[in-house]
Amino acid sequence: MKYIGAHVSAAGGVENAPLNANRIGATAFALFTKNQRQWHAKPLSKQSIELFKQRCNEYGYKPQHILPHDSYLINLGHPEKTALQKSRNAFLDEMQRCEFLGLDRLNFHPGSHLNKIPEETCLKTIAESINLTLDKTTGVTAVIENTAGQGSNLGHTFDQLKFIIDHVEDKNRIGVCIDTCHAFTAGYNLRDKKEFNQTFNRFSETVGFTYLKGMHLNDSKKDYASMVDRHESLGDGFIGYDPFKWIMKDDRFNGIPLILETPDDERWPDEIAQLRKWI
Ligand SMILES: [Zn+2]
Ligand SMILES: [Zn+2]
Repeated sequence: MKYIGAHVSAAGGVENAPLNANRIGATAFALFTKNQRQWHAKPLSKQSIELFKQRCNEYGYKPQHILPHDSYLINLGHPEKTALQKSRNAFLDEMQRCEFLGLDRLNFHPGSHLNKIPEETCLKTIAESINLTLDKTTGVTAVIENTAGQGSNLGHTFDQLKFIIDHVEDKNRIGVCIDTCHAFTAGYNLRDKKEFNQTFNRFSETVGFTYLKGMHLNDSKKDYASMVDRHESLGDGFIGYDPFKWIMKDDRFNGIPLILETPDDERWPDEIAQLRKWI
């Protein structure tokens, strides 16, 4: 079974996200549980939490089909002690917000070395940040998103994702989310069937589909291996429609949230309907 949706707005409160998802015909959704561009947020109110759960229940959204995304400010591999601690505190708060909402996974970008520490040191710092947070929380899986590798962002190779997983103690609460735009611009080709199969075979051998806890379905404004992160509506970018058809027909992508982060939210209902037709 495929669960398809988009990263919907939670403006006015997290309880609005399931409403917005239902409105576009989604069977899965992503959301920010706080303002993604600010460090601090008010705790979720009891009323907000209850209403969120009630509406998810009403529209049939189960925790395993909801993929919250953390704040863009957080860098779990930060080379400086004070800044790292700030990120770790914020990440813990994000995980706890998921706990309160009854959600079982949190999607985040691994981190950046800012050209100040070696890659491996940064990856180990990220894993340690995850370990510290998992120790203080229960029931929520940390879901690392692959990146385009823009700037000094790590997590753009399957080997780096695997390295982080290897250094996380609780293997039951670590997972990954593959963003098609990021994978493509990071140098994993998807455009023809042979390349698509090669990419996901490599993923299977390096990371493994058991760790796949979500997908971001985005076309790309930038070309293959450009290391630039610019999402495009499906079919309008350098990836094209075909890889999304293949994902829809592939059982390895069953049961997880398949989330559009495409730029034109007015097209989401059509994009979701189109993806569903390809299943
Ligand atoms: Zn992301
Ligand atoms: Zn993404």
